[in-house]
Amino acid sequence: VVPAGDDCAVIRDGAGECQVLKTDAIVESVHFEPGSPPAKVGRKAIARCLSDMAAMAATPRNALVTLAIPKTAAVAWVRGFYRGAIAIASEFGVEIVGGETVSTPSNIVVSVAMTGRVARRRMVTRSGGRAGDSILVTGRLGGSIRGHHFSFTPRIREAHWLAQNFKPTAMMDISDGLAADLPRLANASGTGWHIDNAAVPRSKGCGVREALSDGEDYELLFALHPDKVEECCRAWLTEFPEVPLTVIGALTRQKGREFDYDGYDHFKQSR
Ligand SMILES: [Mg+2]
Repeated sequence: VVPAGDDCAVIRDGAGECQVLKTDAIVESVHFEPGSPPAKVGRKAIARCLSDMAAMAATPRNALVTLAIPKTAAVAWVRGFYRGAIAIASEFGVEIVGGETVSTPSNIVVSVAMTGRVARRRMVTRSGGRAGDSILVTGRLGGSIRGHHFSFTPRIREAHWLAQNFKPTAMMDISDGLAADLPRLANASGTGWHIDNAAVPRSKGCGVREALSDGEDYELLFALHPDKVEECCRAWLTEFPEVPLTVIGALTRQKGREFDYDGYDHFKQSR
């Protein structure tokens, strides 16, 4: 139903039902510093997959964890890792049903495969946006490196509520920064985009540059028919009073706009 290139792969599975598949990896020294508390690493590995499940408005089900660690790593590290992984998995109704542990001569690598389900009519992809749709974002952006990348809440509940009540035309999670991810959503939808930089909700201590390009925000970015925006924002306030919801711009007919700032690119950093 949805091939590679969206937040998750989606395959047909019975009338009106779809299976949602995701795999994601995090690497020591790229996604977390050596010496990071293992429980936080475990939490992050699972939460990143949950965030992608949220992007499709899917309900996550099961996960498999592959852990590659140096032989010198203590058993306590693996215990701590699974403590963090299992805690966030169970918070969102996900069971870790198996996995694999292998030894590596170098950095720790964690790969998580996750399954989920979504009703076809509820599913939201990146590609359904239309020119004129408003662009909205949850939470605040920027500064994730100061801790949010370990502690973020995957927006599963918010995504389900949105899909059920207001059905965004397109949606994704922000993992590489708004400046990198919004063009992806617009490209997939065959539209351009315009945002008001000043309207972008910023984390405390962050300027526009950080908010646009830091990455690892794990907030929802979605497009909504303009007629639904006012009611959606009002109802949101009651439903999720602790999570900001902000209109930052609109999808446009004209394509090919560029951001003033680049999104975070792991490969670009290592070149
Ligand atoms: Mg994603």
